[in-house]
Amino acid sequence: VAREHVHYFGAGPAPLPTDVLEQASRALLNYKDKGIGLCEISHRSPDANEILANTKAALANLLDIPDDYEILFLQGGGSGEFSAVVYNLVSIWVEKRRARAEKELGHVSQDKVLERLRKEVEDELKLDYLVTGSWSLKASQEAARLVGAQHVNVALDARDANHGKFGRIPPESEWRLTPRKQNGGAALAYFCDNETVDGVEFPFFPQSLEGDDAAPVVADMSSNFISRKVDARKYAVIFGGAQKNIGNTGITIVIVRKSLLPPVSKYASADLLRALNLPVGPVVLDWPTIAKNNSLYNTLPIFDVWVAGQVMSGLVQTYGVKKISGQEEISNEKAKMIYKTLDKYPDVYSVVPDKSVRSRMNICFRVGGGDAEKEKGFLAGAEKMGLLGLKGHRSVGGIRASNYNAVSVEGAEKLVAYLEDYAEKA
Ligand code: PLP
Repeated sequence: VAREHVHYFGAGPAPLPTDVLEQASRALLNYKDKGIGLCEISHRSPDANEILANTKAALANLLDIPDDYEILFLQGGGSGEFSAVVYNLVSIWVEKRRARAEKELGHVSQDKVLERLRKEVEDELKLDYLVTGSWSLKASQEAARLVGAQHVNVALDARDANHGKFGRIPPESEWRLTPRKQNGGAALAYFCDNETVDGVEFPFFPQSLEGDDAAPVVADMSSNFISRKVDARKYAVIFGGAQKNIGNTGITIVIVRKSLLPPVSKYASADLLRALNLPVGPVVLDWPTIAKNNSLYNTLPIFDVWVAGQVMSGLVQTYGVKKISGQEEISNEKAKMIYKTLDKYPDVYSVVPDKSVRSRMNICFRVGGGDAEKEKGFLAGAEKMGLLGLKGHRSVGGIRASNYNAVSVEGAEKLVAYLEDYAEKA
């Protein structure tokens, strides 16, 4: 089957622009006519450094990331960062408490400091999670695995009480965030901006996470990265795997406020963390180490960085510097036309999440009220039309049309035409 006859709506890995793939195939074989391919050159070579710098610049240009933020490239996927945010931000929290204890207790033995810290950790260490779907649930479970469930405050569990399903974001007045404190409240406040499995997207930045005294805000943007404008300053950390909107699998991008990195923020020593029964993270997830080494602490898959750079520079070229709004408009337009068609046939289709939180990126719906045979038939018919990757996540079933940046308007229109056709015949 020729590539141009297929429109792929898979949730990730996801399609990439064809021109980037064509260039990639050449770069794999022979990069810049040097007689050697991109997967074969050193990650410390001048070429690799140039690729890294260009990719960083393209992302900063596109999302208008201020200078006081660092862009890091890591491996380990979005899931790796579920752990990394805990290791790094708990370490900062502990070190702040240690410094305060030393200052307040004056010249006392280290045992006394430790005693106080043990109590503070026991009573006050909290990590706030807004659980609005399967991925934030997983992130909160990872935090509980690492530091103990007693330290994880699920400030919001959006599962519906009857069926345990996700699909809404209750009002902020119902959230139970750890109270702010002058000397530091929660070690972090975490949310997943777009829940890939459940099709739930935050329509805007939560007001209750704003403010200088708020906990460091961490957002997982794995599945809606570079699809809309983001005010980076509201976040301490934004992260996401590249394999949906940005590039191919293999790199995770972390945008972190520089004040969370040394020398401004100090991290607790491994000895102190061990003494407090808190986890010591692997060095490859340690943001200060990665930042200090310009993401080249260990071998970085530079080909993956190059692909991401090509995709993002392409968007900068198309829409202009600081103009992700161009891509945002197209994403919104495609999502709108698909939802509109689904809503037009309420007897045939039912969108899973509540209207107020419908994802622009992962459009989750049921056919015939979730009838297994009907959904199978729907998918088979779609496949015949070259519309692939529409099966919902195995944990929730149903249909999911992922509408990432590389899904063309033409692809969305073809899906709409099929939705119409199927509904008319149903
Ligand atoms: N977060 C979100 C929102 C995701 O959609 C995914 C994967 O689909 C992940 C995290 C996990 O990413 P990875 O598979 O790269 O670990």
